[in-house]
Amino acid sequence: MKVFLASRNAKKIEEMERILREHLPDIEVLGLDDVEAYDEPVEDQPTFEGNALLKARAGLAATGLPSLADDSGLCVDALNGMPGVLSARWSGPPKDDDRNNRLLLDQLADVPDDRRTAHFQCAVAFCHPGGEELTSGVMPGHVIRETRGTGGFGYDVLFVAEDRPGLTTAELPRADKDEISHRGWALRRMAPIVARILR
Ligand code: IMP
Repeated sequence: MKVFLASRNAKKIEEMERILREHLPDIEVLGLDDVEAYDEPVEDQPTFEGNALLKARAGLAATGLPSLADDSGLCVDALNGMPGVLSARWSGPPKDDDRNNRLLLDQLADVPDDRRTAHFQCAVAFCHPGGEELTSGVMPGHVIRETRGTGGFGYDVLFVAEDRPGLTTAELPRADKDEISHRGWALRRMAPIVARILR
């Protein structure tokens, strides 16, 4: 049983396969590098759900396989929810995590500790010949004042989750982050839905 995940990120594909296997032991997740190249859509939607749907619809159209896609980002309350869907390229192209983190720190320089709340958000879309499904997950926390940790990616070095106070998500063991993360929640909610539809 095969599903397509519109991603080149081997870690994401592995994580999805692991979570899906709990519900569908014989599932195989193919990534963008496992299928013939196709024109990938521009992620121009104003919501995570919209961008995830764009990617999963394009995956189904190009491969004919039931297709999953996710979209995620960091929403900072003091910045009215930004960078949000613009998280990956917040400081402009090309994508650069260090430059994004420096810009975020500058933008929050005058924001006091009790107003540095933020959350990561993730939407997962599943498009199959019979329809479309959407799930989402959030990880609430706050943005600290200097980078800490070497794990994770993106804004993890600046983010302390409410459920794991004291450590940035870049300092947490991978399994700990998966347990509480926006992506972990969204994927775990989607896995039984995929299983029900493909069975
Ligand atoms: P993507 O949708 O997974 O490509 O993520 C979009 C962007 O949001 C990433 O490039 C990061 O800047 C940020 N982001 C999303 N999820 C996380 C996370 O778990 N940790 C840190 N940054 C994240």
